[in-house]
Amino acid sequence: MNVFEYQARDLLGQYGLPIPVGGVATSPEEARHIAERLAKGPFVVKAQILAGGRGKGRFLSGFSGGVRLCSHPAEVEEIARVMLGGVLVTMQTGPEGRSVNKVLVAEAPQISRELYLAILIDRGRRCPVVIGSAQGGVDIEEVARKDPEAIHRIWVDPQVGFWPYQARELAMRMGLHGPLLNPAADVIVRLYRFFCECDASLSEVNPLAVIENEKFAVIDAKIGFDENALFRHPEIAACRNEVVEDAREAEALKAGLNYVGLSGEIGCMVNGAGLAMATMDILHRYGGEPANFLDVGGGADQNQVTKAFAILMADPKVRAIFVHIFGGIMQCDVIARGIVEAVSHTKPKVPVVVRLQGTNFEEGKAILHQSDLLIRTADDLAEAAQKAVAAARET
Ligand code: GDP
Ligand code: MG
Repeated sequence: MNVFEYQARDLLGQYGLPIPVGGVATSPEEARHIAERLAKGPFVVKAQILAGGRGKGRFLSGFSGGVRLCSHPAEVEEIARVMLGGVLVTMQTGPEGRSVNKVLVAEAPQISRELYLAILIDRGRRCPVVIGSAQGGVDIEEVARKDPEAIHRIWVDPQVGFWPYQARELAMRMGLHGPLLNPAADVIVRLYRFFCECDASLSEVNPLAVIENEKFAVIDAKIGFDENALFRHPEIAACRNEVVEDAREAEALKAGLNYVGLSGEIGCMVNGAGLAMATMDILHRYGGEPANFLDVGGGADQNQVTKAFAILMADPKVRAIFVHIFGGIMQCDVIARGIVEAVSHTKPKVPVVVRLQGTNFEEGKAILHQSDLLIRTADDLAEAAQKAVAAARET
């Protein structure tokens, strides 16, 4: 789970990281009030979306930049008015962009250097890696590509922990010497503590700025958390209501379904994450694209199946529904009754293709055939996928 920048700032601030003062606003007037309460300008107004590249982004309205510096509160209000309700397109959002519902307003320090600092899990080495570069800022991807030597890494043995000398070593490799060395090491150590104690999977500060030639400021932060550890962090878990942007994802979450919206045309309802991924792969192989990943779980009940149908059908991209269930603990006849109920209740306007396998699958198929609903069935995985792709092409 990724959180918004304004949420990341609050969390990092609790670990003593240097965050410029500011606040988040949902209206232009509120943005102005925040600026008026801050000690001094200039200010920065930043569109809050769950994607980076905002500085170089552009709004669908033509307004350029999701990060803008202003000198007066009146200007803050003006810029917030343009950003709020707008759709910001960046190199990370895709052409459809993301709606901006909140802006961050903060003091904008003068920056003398922009550095890059991040901690993430190196899955290959099975340990955290702390990454730093003297060349931070909006072109970091370019630096990584053209000058990989400029990116420095320190791998951390989780049993030994991260030691201050390692932080100083990284800081030196990032070109930080003299009076900047110890403050830099302090920032790195604090970020590492945050990363571990909060079960983050990514903590990226870009840029980490040097201001007034002697201090640091966290100018932008991107943080992701391990969802399996959220139960240990109620405060972080509470960010979730804010970050589930997609209405269908929010609804699925409430129904206890695992749903991720995608860009294709075949709505998939599958039990088990592995089977869901295999289903997406095979659809792709036969020229179709899944409209979503939907795992109804091992013990889905009637209600959840109905809810899942409703969620799939509410998606205007969906041209066919593919139900792919393996009856292990759940029996196929029970599932088939659930599908018949759900289909007669929700009346999908697109073809429904069902493949049931596992316990009692013969009975399950018979139940589907006996219903007078237009449900297409298939026995074998490849056949089912081909039928689903063909069905999506018909409509
Ligand atoms: P991103 O484009 O989504 O990564 O947004 P950032 O918050 O990283 O901002 C992009 C760039 O805008 C930064 O690299 C800075 O150069 C500039 N910027 C952002 N905030 C400030 C600020 O408070 N003061 C100054 N002087 N520049 C800023
Ligand atoms: Mg940034």
